[in-house]
Amino acid sequence: PARDAPTLGESAIRHAQALQKKLFIDGEWHDAVSGKTLPVEDPRTGEEILRVAEGDKADVDKAVIAARRAFDEGPWPRMSAKERGRLMFKLADLMERDAEELAQLETLDNGKPIWYSRNADIPLSYDHIRYYAGWADKIQGKTIPVDGPYWAYTFHEPLGVVGQIVPWNFPLLMAAWKLGPALAAGNTVVLKTAEQTPLTAIKIGELIAEAGFPNGVVNIISGHGPTAGSALVEHPGIAFTGSTEVGRKIGAQTAHALKPCTLELGGKSPVIVCPDVDVEQAVKDASFALFFNHGQCCAAGSRRATLLRAAFGPGPRHGSPWAAGPTAPYMGLYVHEAIYDEFVDKAAKAAAGRRVGDPFGDVDQGPQVDRDQYNKILEYIDHGKSQGARLLTGGSAKGDRGYFIEPTVFADVRDDMLISRDEIFGPVQCISKFSTLEEVIRRANDTPYGLASGVFSTNVDSINTLTRGIKAGTVWVNCYNVYDSAVPFGGYKDSGMGREKGEYALTNYTQIKAVYQPLVNPAW
Ligand code: NAD
Repeated sequence: PARDAPTLGESAIRHAQALQKKLFIDGEWHDAVSGKTLPVEDPRTGEEILRVAEGDKADVDKAVIAARRAFDEGPWPRMSAKERGRLMFKLADLMERDAEELAQLETLDNGKPIWYSRNADIPLSYDHIRYYAGWADKIQGKTIPVDGPYWAYTFHEPLGVVGQIVPWNFPLLMAAWKLGPALAAGNTVVLKTAEQTPLTAIKIGELIAEAGFPNGVVNIISGHGPTAGSALVEHPGIAFTGSTEVGRKIGAQTAHALKPCTLELGGKSPVIVCPDVDVEQAVKDASFALFFNHGQCCAAGSRRATLLRAAFGPGPRHGSPWAAGPTAPYMGLYVHEAIYDEFVDKAAKAAAGRRVGDPFGDVDQGPQVDRDQYNKILEYIDHGKSQGARLLTGGSAKGDRGYFIEPTVFADVRDDMLISRDEIFGPVQCISKFSTLEEVIRRANDTPYGLASGVFSTNVDSINTLTRGIKAGTVWVNCYNVYDSAVPFGGYKDSGMGREKGEYALTNYTQIKAVYQPLVNPAW
């Protein structure tokens, strides 16, 4: 309830102040070699609440050395796969034990409503670690029949030390997506969190120590991209989630050094609403999909459908959107001309009804993460207005403190407008009209991105045509934002390389060794 907001907010600040606020290297907490610190802001007010150690190249080097030692000499590579799995189960249990504290820290750091953190980010994260804990002793090679007096088999071996770089929109969940498969496969890790949101990963460092992971298996560095991030890219293989711009740089650097690299990048995912749908329902699904997490979405996932349904009640259709994971890839909405006017009218009302305010209260939307994002979104809204899109609701900042923005809906958005082409990463819904499936497939694919997409229709032919026609890593049909730890997620085209989640993600963290051996008795 709203009246809890001040108390919960204060409790979150107390939790944050009690954290280590340092870098987690080789199982211990360190100040930065430079002595520098990063400010952590409260996005509700824009005020600094505390500072954490700011790592850069010297700290990254220390962390990589620790991870290397843990991989080469530590108990980690000598443990059985089952024991590694057991430690991961323990970590997931500790995360579940401290779920409320983690939820408060995530909301304080990122600005997302506390109920998102409690019911999505945090449970999705420990669920993900559990899912991969189960994989630890199931990663296995093959025996292969070969010509001649030999037999051959494969090992799926860990890469060694891996670097992982995560963004601020789902700070803990993105870290869980990366830590899960890397640890299950037996790697050691240096994780760099986003400069805007270091808190929940620091807490995870504390829990990793409590769970009894050997020193150096997981190292956590708070720091900026161009300093700590690029220093990490110099070292081991890299798994990166973030913007396409930075991903392209990292991809080029790792390709040149012939190092493994996975990239989960931006998206501008089309959602197509056909004329045969229940309009009311499609408006609800589309609205939830876009405005969830203030539009700061792009990827996330889980097996928590049941939990989310339990928390929010049954979703309107197939459990969606409540069956959802936490994110919608940022999208453009194409609505068939036959239902366009009705849809647009209802979408504007749905957006205008969203409650914006203190994320520790009973709201649908809190502040954006920081001033840069806030300014960037307001600029896009200005472009929408000046390029002639029809503003139906919102269109401004909200309040005079913190980084709040009104849920905004533009209709009659043309494909050449900036708000149609770019990833806005904010609460701005852009609606345009289409007439035929052929036309909408062409327009939906006319983007450098290919992360995800949504199709709403009751006509099986339309569904089949669209699911095959759209070039994207995920297509949701008559639902949106349904995620499961077991199902791969990742992008076509400029939305990335490789897949996270599920069995597929294990291939990012393993390399294959083929072994030939002579048969003892060639006559066999
Ligand atoms: P960003 O690329 O600026 O930052 C992401 C991370 O990279 C941060 O930790 C940052 O410190 C680091 N970084 C920045 N410059 C770096 C450099 N030169 N070298 C190494 N690391 C560097 O992105 P952002 O604005 O924080 O995140 C939002 C973006 O992330 C959006 O484009 C969004 O779509 C994308 N995203 C994608 C997925 C996915 O799964 N595809 C998931 C979440 C977010």
